[in-house]
Amino acid sequence: AAATECVLRAADVAVHFGGVKAVDGVSIELTAGRIFGVLGPNGSGKSTLLAALTRLVPLTRGSLEFEGRRYDTVRPHTIAARGVARTFQTVRILPGRTVFDNVALGAESAGSAGKAERSRARQRVRTAIERTGLAGKERHRPDELSYGYQRRVEIARAIASEPTLLLLDEPTAGMNRQERDDITGLLGDLRGEGLTQLLIEHDVQMMVEACDHLFAMNFGELIAGGEPEAVVRHPAVQEAYLGT
Ligand code: ADP
Ligand code: MG
Repeated sequence: AAATECVLRAADVAVHFGGVKAVDGVSIELTAGRIFGVLGPNGSGKSTLLAALTRLVPLTRGSLEFEGRRYDTVRPHTIAARGVARTFQTVRILPGRTVFDNVALGAESAGSAGKAERSRARQRVRTAIERTGLAGKERHRPDELSYGYQRRVEIARAIASEPTLLLLDEPTAGMNRQERDDITGLLGDLRGEGLTQLLIEHDVQMMVEACDHLFAMNFGELIAGGEPEAVVRHPAVQEAYLGT
């Protein structure tokens, strides 16, 4: 049963900005412990879909369910507290705070944490820092780090919350080959531990290798979904995304 457990279900989700149908009737189901990928040309609605799933934009239409509970009207921090973590296409970290403090923002639990919980939170921060290759950089400020390392801080902050679902919007943008391999290796490890993920990236080959299941978007709509190799070969995807 665990293998087919539905973690997130989005049904007929639409997000319109005035006349712009950024997302228009997308239905997806994310099952536990798998890496799902979203491919699509610039402007096809990938980031807006993630914004909808994390309640950062209101839905024009449709419904959202996480672990069987509707959440289409809850606040972003509520769905985050239930176990949905994300990273942003444009890094959102606090420039004036250290790497450690930025990552700790992900590990902080709401309300009055006792001593034992604070100690567990610090351990989650240290683990996240090690796993993202940030060990030794805890006391640095993000603006002293390369862009690739700033991205790692965001990923570390997201995994420090020990989420049930991790949504990543182009986490390896601006990284070199080795850094990208490090990140996809980490995502694979996290999947091995049962973490469900939704990954947006442009590199088709990398997505085929990293993902268990791909969705392809164009003009706000899903144009294909399924086994990665099949999705990439799909004529509509070839035309829309690969320009062939
Ligand atoms: P992608 O991530 O696939 O590149 P986006 O989701 O960022 O695409 O954008 C999809 C479409 O929605 C684009 O036409 C974009 O200009 C538009 N869009 C995105 N966010 C907003 C916004 N806040 N207000 C108005 N239009 C937006
Ligand atoms: Mg985007």
